[in-house]
Amino acid sequence: MSESKILIENPLESLSMTVPFSCRDWATEKRDAWVWGIICGWGDDCQREFEQKFGWDVNTFGRLKRLHTKFEEMRRAQSADERTGRWVPVVNTWTQDEHVYGATWYKCDQCGRLCETKQPYCHCGAHMIEGEEHD
Ligand SMILES: [Zn+2]
Repeated sequence: MSESKILIENPLESLSMTVPFSCRDWATEKRDAWVWGIICGWGDDCQREFEQKFGWDVNTFGRLKRLHTKFEEMRRAQSADERTGRWVPVVNTWTQDEHVYGATWYKCDQCGRLCETKQPYCHCGAHMIEGEEHD
């Protein structure tokens, strides 16, 4: 591959690249919300809403958060090469707003992936740094 665009070969990473770009409202249907929860993760502030909508109590929500943590660990373990990158705040294209589900989104400057939180590693394997120059 001579072009600079990164082709995703990690299946977990591919899921993470696909789900956030869907225009579907992932908080409407119970199973969609579960899938989003595993792949992208919900903030703690969503628990009350989902308890009312789907009957997810604190324990169920906690389990979903653990599944997301595990998903991230597995995804990261498959991203062997370590590069550095940084999170760039973005305007969401389908809401024309900087907030989706109450969170600001960030874009990896290495692969373009959107992320709800500034995580230490991007799904492309880049180690995300802040306030430092890199190349
Ligand atoms: Zn990335």
